[in-house]
Amino acid sequence: MPLTDNQRHVLDALRNAEAPLGAYALLERLREDGFSAPTQVYRALEGLKRKGLVHRLETLNAYVPCSLECGEQAITAFVICDDCGCIDELIDKALSQSLGLLVKRRDFSPDSMTIEIHGTCARCAGLDDNATNPSSPR
Ligand SMILES: [Zn+2]
Ligand SMILES: [Zn+2]
Repeated sequence: MPLTDNQRHVLDALRNAEAPLGAYALLERLREDGFSAPTQVYRALEGLKRKGLVHRLETLNAYVPCSLECGEQAITAFVICDDCGCIDELIDKALSQSLGLLVKRRDFSPDSMTIEIHGTCARCAGLDDNATNPSSPR
């Protein structure tokens, strides 16, 4: 199914954002595109989530665009740095499949299939010597 106009606006806003956005932050950015109520944002997000194009991060109460083409019904993991707020999407086919199977065996219908791992990224921990620092020229 093609995206609705509202879904496209929400997806664009998330892709242009430098960090995960909550529904109200999205609404603020989308007022010029004709959004006036949170329900419009939520409805668009619901549709995008079902298509596997955005993921909801429960612990941050915010949304991010999918960066790995997970598709529908995929189990995704995110590492979230609590120092700098950077996030990275990880998916492992084997993990996704085995978890999916476990869930299915219980006849459980999952709504949210996102694993959120909080901690410190390599850059903040000083482990990544090759990290590109955007504020200093290379
Ligand atoms: Zn994804
Ligand atoms: Zn960090």
